[in-house]
Amino acid sequence: MTLLLFVILPVSKRKDIKMNIYAKLETLLHSPQIVHCLEKIRKNEEKVLTFQKEMALIEAPTFQEEARGQALFSLFQEMGLTNVTTDDIGNTFGTLFGTDSKSRGNIVIEAHMDTVFSKGSVHEIIEKDGVIYCPGIADDTRGIALLYGLLLAMKGTDIPLRKNLIFLGTVREEGAGGCGGLKHYLRNHPDTECCISVDGPDSDLIVLGGPGTRTIEVVFHGKGDHAYAGCGYVGNPVRAAVRAMNKISSFTPGESPRTTCEITGFQAGDLAGIHAIPSRASITLNFRSEEKTALENLESFIFSALRDGVQEENDFVTGCGVTYEIIDHVNIPVSCMPRESELVQTMDAVIKSLGMTPLYDTKCPTNANITIGSGLPGICIGGGGKAGSYHSPQEWFDPADSYLGVQAAFLLCMILTDAVLS
Ligand SMILES: [Zn+2]
Repeated sequence: MTLLLFVILPVSKRKDIKMNIYAKLETLLHSPQIVHCLEKIRKNEEKVLTFQKEMALIEAPTFQEEARGQALFSLFQEMGLTNVTTDDIGNTFGTLFGTDSKSRGNIVIEAHMDTVFSKGSVHEIIEKDGVIYCPGIADDTRGIALLYGLLLAMKGTDIPLRKNLIFLGTVREEGAGGCGGLKHYLRNHPDTECCISVDGPDSDLIVLGGPGTRTIEVVFHGKGDHAYAGCGYVGNPVRAAVRAMNKISSFTPGESPRTTCEITGFQAGDLAGIHAIPSRASITLNFRSEEKTALENLESFIFSALRDGVQEENDFVTGCGVTYEIIDHVNIPVSCMPRESELVQTMDAVIKSLGMTPLYDTKCPTNANITIGSGLPGICIGGGGKAGSYHSPQEWFDPADSYLGVQAAFLLCMILTDAVLS
């Protein structure tokens, strides 16, 4: 929490903190232990890639991450983490204990285990011209592989951390999961001081946050009746839904801040009931904005459209009307970590120390939205390498220099956990 307050500090204080970050980094980069670990990370890249390919073949659609969770559980145990746990929804984590027993704040580094690919769609790894092709190979199997890269580097290297470092594989990040895995973890672990998400490739990436996302399902209920006998008397859920959708369709997307709303699904009736007023209709809506107030205003607009659409239908009939309910599927807050904050400045310095230029992104919704939305300092970083065709069967990962992503994450963790060097 203290890190977030950084933005309101006077300029002189900001300079102090920046000096402090550079001083810590300087000490780290001159420590033989750290230099040894950085070298180990470079040498281990082949091992990390082998692991990444093995993990990519363990299918893990959102809500079905068990097999990958079990593999990660075994890995965490093998690598010597303590208190290795899989929680009630499948998040899998273990702890590297710090030396400061009084420190209550844990540093968490996490990657999501789930992918957007349904079971049966991942068959093999194809390698061509040094590029690896497999659905999910980058998003976010690379993040999981980075956790392994860190553990490999730290195993057998006696660097005492002051604060506890938690390695976490989360479930339910993608799609209808709505970043629910990390939400669940943070709710149950108020001892978290800061959480770093690793998602996808790139060694120079700092995602500060992204738009807020809401996905809702609206179910319209009616009594149902004969299409001829009931017409004019009995409320029709389909017509109520259409009336509401008509109003919602008058929304014009905004560019600044980018604010969007789409009707993404509509279900009602069936062939057997072509002469019936159905008793049920449902629509799904996805709406987003980069700005909190714009998202709230859009939500009010949508909720009024639903209320008014149903009211119009109920005014239209003389008998039994239509009711509706809203089911929340995804609710990710709008989030943006201040660029001047200590956490962001630390990662900025780390990336520069490895000879790269930080690449900032403020438009990418990730698990970091959840961390920041919970009032904790958080960013999302890349796992190294390059990648593309995300969420498609052609997803690819180019591992050239991907060790740099692991090195950057390692240095960041050393600073955040206040590693004690000899
Ligand atoms: Zn991802």
